[in-house]
Amino acid sequence: MRLRKISAAYIFSPERGFLKHAILSLSDDGSVVSLEDTGGKLSEQAGLEYYNGIICPGFINAHCHLELSHMKGKIPRITQIPGFVEKVINGRKEKQEVIAEAIIQADKEMKRQGIVAVGDICNTSDTFSVKAESSIYYYSFIELLGSSEIAANTIYTRGQFLVREAEHKYGLKASISPHSAYSLSPELFRLIREGSRDEDHILSVHNQESAAEDDLIRYGRGELYDTFNKLGFDCSSFIPRNKSSFDWLINQLPSGKNCLLIHNLYTTAEDLKNPDLAKNKLYWVLCPKSNFYIGGIYPGTFLPERFPENICIGTDSLASNDKLSILEELLAFQNARPEVSLSNLLCWAGINGAKALGIDSWFGSFEEGKKPGVLLIENADLTSLKLRKESRVRVLV
Ligand SMILES: [Zn+2]
Repeated sequence: MRLRKISAAYIFSPERGFLKHAILSLSDDGSVVSLEDTGGKLSEQAGLEYYNGIICPGFINAHCHLELSHMKGKIPRITQIPGFVEKVINGRKEKQEVIAEAIIQADKEMKRQGIVAVGDICNTSDTFSVKAESSIYYYSFIELLGSSEIAANTIYTRGQFLVREAEHKYGLKASISPHSAYSLSPELFRLIREGSRDEDHILSVHNQESAAEDDLIRYGRGELYDTFNKLGFDCSSFIPRNKSSFDWLINQLPSGKNCLLIHNLYTTAEDLKNPDLAKNKLYWVLCPKSNFYIGGIYPGTFLPERFPENICIGTDSLASNDKLSILEELLAFQNARPEVSLSNLLCWAGINGAKALGIDSWFGSFEEGKKPGVLLIENADLTSLKLRKESRVRVLV
């Protein structure tokens, strides 16, 4: 077997940190044979590739909506969530060939950006054929929403149909997920909870992206209510629940899952007291650029400080981002919260996302036998180990 040997200024391992001048050996198919810590002393070796940058495992994009890729640049910035929801619903009306081409290009862009796996939200089957052919690993969350109690059964049955189509026709991993606390009737939540299959290990749900969610759940009114009313939705299930949107959501979810909570901009210490939190293994997915695009704010450090092992990174969709690049998400977060180390950022973008999606046995680190993809981060600040705006990612394997 011919080994490919790669070294760099630093090789990042989530278990061992930044290893100066380490040597990563890979087999022909990209599987890791070894990661050797040279103690910083690299001797001349025939056939050794050397890069003046940081090498890390392939990125995991824990939250995307590939099917919204055609909406790039269509929605103005800082609309806030009620305005954004309205514009996404209207923006879905587009020619099928335009939607299909945008999906193909977005998949290619993610590959160029070193993304090896994606937790992707689907409301339709538009992305299935591209994902089936892609070298990227996709987990498809078939997302359900609908405030009408009467329509819940129809919505749920359609979701089951999409899961079967993704699995049987396209060989994709897929399961049903609720959209958010505020967009499902209690009956639809019940169907999801009770219909969850044993093999559905993962769930993804938008959480506390806006303060308006709390108004809707707690009081049955507010900006989101007004938006849904204006759009002609059945608002009869929006009654005051007298609890926070977080408490409401956590109580509605099935148990025993990896649960990816997306955004979490308004999560508080009070929320974390909910005893039902322990029902699921929670992963907190941050989407910094999307949050800034929609609401003009970045995620804080409260959750990363509490749950450093359970933070993941997502790009969200091109409806609220100009690029599907995990490196840009990390740079945006670092610029907003400079106290967070690059070591933490790379764990969030790699091993944590792999664990959340249940694929850490082959992605997320350079352990022997894994096939995680190998990225080179160029133009980083190698003295202080920080990203810079000139930093770029290059796919080596
Ligand atoms: Zn989303």
